[in-house]
Amino acid sequence: MSILENRNIIQQNIEVACLKTKRSPKDVNIVAVTKYVSNETTKEAVSAGVGHIGENRIEGLLEKKDFLSEMSVKWHFIGTLQTRKVKEIINHVDYIHSLDRLSLAKEIQKRADQTISCFIQVNVAEEDSKHGLAVKEVLTFVDKLKEYDRIKVVGLMTMAPFTENKEVVRNVFSTLKQLQMDIQKKELPHAPCQELSMGMSNDYVIAVEEGATFIRIGTDLVGKEF
Ligand SMILES: *Cc1c(COP(=O)(O)O)cnc(C)c1O
Repeated sequence: MSILENRNIIQQNIEVACLKTKRSPKDVNIVAVTKYVSNETTKEAVSAGVGHIGENRIEGLLEKKDFLSEMSVKWHFIGTLQTRKVKEIINHVDYIHSLDRLSLAKEIQKRADQTISCFIQVNVAEEDSKHGLAVKEVLTFVDKLKEYDRIKVVGLMTMAPFTENKEVVRNVFSTLKQLQMDIQKKELPHAPCQELSMGMSNDYVIAVEEGATFIRIGTDLVGKEF
């Protein structure tokens, strides 16, 4: 199937999930995750109407951004970001999805030419294999970020565990939604926290039902070439 067909199927699934939960499909953005595909395939995704591209490797993002320089795209860095590599990427992205420690915040503050839209990565299920803060650490962390005027906390990001158990997955996403509402209640100017980055190929429908505003889709949208 073509990327356009894949996109249309995903869009239909988003619409069903939104209808079911009385949300507006306009509030759900698809981020095409292109880590397994070529520059050409990434271009096909943009031509199919996907305006957001996500990469988890610095080299991959810079290469694709260069290749697609004529096209209107928002660039998302979704991978683990090493502090010493911040300077290579920070002024080439629109969003960072993996802010999870103060040392990283400090380096972003030092290297960014302008305010960067950041998601705080939360390891809701506290899996050893995943990065991110525990839920109970997030409010304190958000408070500390007010010192860094180059960082705007636009939202929270999580990855659900790989499991067939849909209730486990749903519970992770609804926990992130609850945490978002707790942060919003504080009305912090540096942390509007209006977005939720959650849901991948195997669980995005549940994520949309639970409030996702950015879903990160690789396999089901652009496939896997390498
Ligand atoms: C690879 C990746 C995705 C997309 O995964 P698929 O299962 O291929 O849709 C989403 N988010 C992150 C952080 C990733 O690394």
